[in-house]
Amino acid sequence: KHKRRESIYVTMNYAKDFFMRTMQTSQEGKSLGLGYFKNRGYNGDTINKFDLGYSLDAWDALEKSAFEKGYTEKSLELAGLRSENEKGKKYDRFRGRVMFPIHDLSGRVIAFGARTLKKDGKPKYLNSPETEIYHKSDALYGIYHAKDALRIKDRCYLVEGYTDVISLNQSGIENVVASSGTALTEGQIKQIKRFTNNVTAVFDGDAAGLKAAIRGVDMLLEQGLNVRVVRLPEGEDPDSYCTQLGGTKFAEFLKDAETDFILFAAKLYNEEAKNDPLNKAEKVREVLMSIVKIPDTIQQEIFIKECATVFDISVDGLIKELNALTKREI
Ligand code: ATP
Ligand code: MN
Ligand code: MN
Ligand code: MN
Repeated sequence: KHKRRESIYVTMNYAKDFFMRTMQTSQEGKSLGLGYFKNRGYNGDTINKFDLGYSLDAWDALEKSAFEKGYTEKSLELAGLRSENEKGKKYDRFRGRVMFPIHDLSGRVIAFGARTLKKDGKPKYLNSPETEIYHKSDALYGIYHAKDALRIKDRCYLVEGYTDVISLNQSGIENVVASSGTALTEGQIKQIKRFTNNVTAVFDGDAAGLKAAIRGVDMLLEQGLNVRVVRLPEGEDPDSYCTQLGGTKFAEFLKDAETDFILFAAKLYNEEAKNDPLNKAEKVREVLMSIVKIPDTIQQEIFIKECATVFDISVDGLIKELNALTKREI
């Protein structure tokens, strides 16, 4: 069992090298893969730092190369590098995509995220399946490259995607990890907590995503992290905005725009309620639902006071409701 896991690591490392080599040396890799990354503004150091690569638009490019080196079909399958159609025909899983290797805390490649180069290609990102070394819900993109900076800065920027992590790194902001588009799990948060208790979630500007992102923060609060947020301008993600502003200005923006999460949510909800009493009651409860998750009771009290001001209601009423919610939680 242990040996099998070790061999999957070795296979994944081979695939990573193959995709990198393909991008640097093949005609197709240079024009499509390298061209794509250069177009996004990534320099050579960044491409090497994140082991970025390219998978040829062919059914068996990886398989052929791996066979020559003595890897078996079985080893490729265990690593999640092969797919199979209904008729049982097997083929390389990743074809004609730029490759983002996903590293574990110690820098080993455990999976790939692979982006289509087609304008409306589906899916936009194709990921590795779960394997014996890759449990999607535990992986945290960027953690290996972030860990030193997380400790030194005592802060973790939380973004959505691979490209966000990479752009910020290239701009000198290395204390950043990505949730890969979903809410963080307990396992992912535990990894962050090894290095810092301060998380700043950087939200995309669009209102639709904001709601989902806000709910995703509850798990961070529950784990006792200090959560702050930065909301980006409409239509921007961290990658696009960082590229637009440049690293220095973007870093300043992050510092200036950062607000405490509970206060952010309270203000947002209060505006939405537009002084409609019933609506407002509902929104107050929404924020209390987050406050109730915070383990530190002193922090809870401070937030209750701030919320009372924002919503213009009494502290006593809020505390009563919080106590009711706390009982329900237990
Ligand atoms: P780009 O700038 O190239 O469009 P992005 O990182 O901004 O990429 P988003 O659509 O914002 O892409 O998605 C954010 C993240 O969510 C991605 O980086 C990826 O980790 C994850 N993701 C998006 N779509 C998928 C998908 N179809 N399958 C798995 N993960 C996905
Ligand atoms: Mn998005
Ligand atoms: Mn993007
Ligand atoms: Mn995005």
